[in-house]
Amino acid sequence: METLRQRILQVLEEADSPLTVDEIGAALDIPVRERKRLYEELVHLAKTVERKSGGAMRIMYEPPRCVHCGYVFKDLKRIRRPSRCPKCKSERILPPRFILLKK
Ligand SMILES: [Zn+2]
Repeated sequence: METLRQRILQVLEEADSPLTVDEIGAALDIPVRERKRLYEELVHLAKTVERKSGGAMRIMYEPPRCVHCGYVFKDLKRIRRPSRCPKCKSERILPPRFILLKK
């Protein structure tokens, strides 16, 4: 049986553009309330993919961004969708988006 991480990798391999956790979750029929854990899965998957491919394949992410003022969350300790912008306090945050890059 395929593991969740293998299925996530497959979704990323087939994608032409970066995907949010919501888009990945929807592709895998994962209920909305369980999609947050995909961030953690993606962090582990990124390490595995990089190691197994000898650095030829990499999962990168675009950091989340505030829709209102354009603030970019560059230094997240943990990848996630922040709930609020520290600069303008807006809650309209674009979530991080993930992409698989191959050399
Ligand atoms: Zn903002």
